[in-house]
Amino acid sequence: MKSQQASVHFNENGTPVADHFGDVYFSNDSGINETQYVFMAGNSIVERWQAHSNPSFVIAETGFGTGLNFLVAMQAFKHFRNANPSHPLKQLFFLSTEKFPLPKPDMEKALLSFPALKEEATALSTRYPMELDGCHRRHFDEFDTTLDLWIGDVHDLLPQWHSPTAGLIDAWFLDGFAPSKNPDMWADTLFEQMARLSKVGATFATFTAAGFVKRGLAAAGFTVSKRKGFGRKRDMLVGVYETEAASTLAEKRAFEGPYYRYTQAAIAPKSHVIVVGNGLAAATVTLSLAKRGINVTVCHDQEALATGASGNPQGGFFPQLHSEASIASRIQAHSFLYASHIYHTLLDDNDTSTNTALKKTPVAHDFCGVAQLNFNEKVAVRQKKLVANGVWPEALIKPISPEALSEKASIALPYDGLFIEQGGWISPPDLVRALIEQAKQYADVTVLCHHEYLSHTVLNDSDKASLSDALAQAHHLAVEFSVTAGIEDSSHNKTLYADHLILATGAGAVGSSAFASLPLRPVRGQVEAITTQAPINALTTVICHKGYMTPALNNRHALGSTYIKNDLSTEVRAQESEQNLQTHQQAMANTDVVQQLKHDGEARAATRLGSPDHQPVSGMLADFSALKTQYVGLSLGKPLYTAAPLPATPVSTLCCLGSRGLTTAPLMAELLASTLTHEPLPLNNDLCQAVHPARFMVRDCIRSIFDE
Ligand code: SAM
Repeated sequence: MKSQQASVHFNENGTPVADHFGDVYFSNDSGINETQYVFMAGNSIVERWQAHSNPSFVIAETGFGTGLNFLVAMQAFKHFRNANPSHPLKQLFFLSTEKFPLPKPDMEKALLSFPALKEEATALSTRYPMELDGCHRRHFDEFDTTLDLWIGDVHDLLPQWHSPTAGLIDAWFLDGFAPSKNPDMWADTLFEQMARLSKVGATFATFTAAGFVKRGLAAAGFTVSKRKGFGRKRDMLVGVYETEAASTLAEKRAFEGPYYRYTQAAIAPKSHVIVVGNGLAAATVTLSLAKRGINVTVCHDQEALATGASGNPQGGFFPQLHSEASIASRIQAHSFLYASHIYHTLLDDNDTSTNTALKKTPVAHDFCGVAQLNFNEKVAVRQKKLVANGVWPEALIKPISPEALSEKASIALPYDGLFIEQGGWISPPDLVRALIEQAKQYADVTVLCHHEYLSHTVLNDSDKASLSDALAQAHHLAVEFSVTAGIEDSSHNKTLYADHLILATGAGAVGSSAFASLPLRPVRGQVEAITTQAPINALTTVICHKGYMTPALNNRHALGSTYIKNDLSTEVRAQESEQNLQTHQQAMANTDVVQQLKHDGEARAATRLGSPDHQPVSGMLADFSALKTQYVGLSLGKPLYTAAPLPATPVSTLCCLGSRGLTTAPLMAELLASTLTHEPLPLNNDLCQAVHPARFMVRDCIRSIFDE
């Protein structure tokens, strides 16, 4: 849902004041000093970084406001990293909630008061998310910092955060307007959630010393003490979460159920992961892991990368949005916004967000916008409803007149419709190669072609003892491959050792016993490569109706696509070419854009892998038949969240991206990498569950009453 933006004015000191609350965002005297004193020193942040032995440190804040606290923390972390390049602490996570996001111009104006933070403020401004409820993950690689800006009410959001059993948060910046001006926020439910999410030893600091805040935090399990407040303020509170009540521990696990996310042990920098696959799923997860310092071997049974569904020369990049903020639409919207952030960093030569020493691999693309044409009555009703419901920010999708649409397209189109400004097209094969090349610059990443995945075995202690290779002994998993002819004279089997295996094989999953517990839906799709010709040679935006057409790349336009269920063959069929052209002719009957098209028959067909609910699958693969026995009571109304045994086999999957991989792959990959490293997850828990591999098993259990 689109959230309500803050309405602010600037007082005589130039400090922003929230009209809704009648309170300032930061101290009139000195905003930076207040942040340093109350939140940074109050949590002993820099000392704790020095003593930290994990690869990441997690700060959570209530009330993002102008982002001032975030910028101060991020700047301090960069200083820490520069001064301690070999320290085990590598990444700062800053999670912040915001119910009323500031409009970007107000945020920028507020931060002009802090020239010492100019570089940080500019970085935030270029990555500032739109006002859409949910998590917006933004990478500030030049500061070794990840921001998760959660838009919404803190009371709705914190219960949606998934916590590893050992807790998630190292330090709390308990901000928000004064309790007297914003009493709803300072409630016991907030303090209880803070306890649920805290690691033992987590600290908090807040500018207020209100008695009920002190009592509430103490009741939730924090040891609270008062200290001198900032400036004219007499007192403030600091505290530490020292012990863990059994009930809090149980609550932390409560989300696990069959939807467990965290493995028994986190994968750490220098671990070795094998990724099986050669398309977008494999490439995006490889980059997400490599950026965490994890070494990856990408194995596939083809001659080259991107030979399957990620092999089409051009793919439309846009979210599929409904008129309601359904789970499917929220996955699409957030995946799209995250992918857009990742692609701009990867593809934009002027982008300064990554280390400038990183080489960028060219990727054919154009973020030229995507027009969804209103080409028949049914679509008109749907589009009207989407606009009337107002659940999406206009910056994401907005209505467009025939005149404006024709201007965007550079072709006369007598349709109104919807326009997705940030969308466009990308060459998936180029993108796959660029993702892998970038990953190689962060960690040891090797690609092995002609390696067909056969099976995997968990290594127990006696297995390990029998291995002569000391390196292999350090790993948990043996993965068997058939190395097929092409690079060697004859096929032979080969074993590789790893800490975790990720199966990202696309349609290659069909028939593999590793996927036996997942209902897979392969769908063949053929896309035409139409030679450029008048009038479509002028096209400057992607146009979508029932099918789609892109502007030209190498003098050809992609025009697609067919959807043939359960068809694994990839030969080009004249009859499907005919079907693709007809779809366009019917949808665009009022124009000459498609009617006159000449087609020489060049096309490409591939099989995409989907799932029965059309959502991606990202998470650990387990023995779902064993879990089924445990959860069979679901059909009788038994609770979902009885703890499930964590899977003993360190194997995950990222698959079922269907024809939406350009949109969903980066966020689904990031979710998986965050899961395996026990870091904060970049999605609301309900969305995490909607893409979890166990969801099919849960549905089967619920339905079983009807089957009997
Ligand atoms: N930390 C901010 C900074 O660095 O600029 C200042 C925060 S300002 C004092 C308080 C913020 O809390 C406001 O942006 C306000 O909209 C937000 N807020 C208030 N109630 C909230 C709630 N229930 N959930 C999430 N955010 C809330």
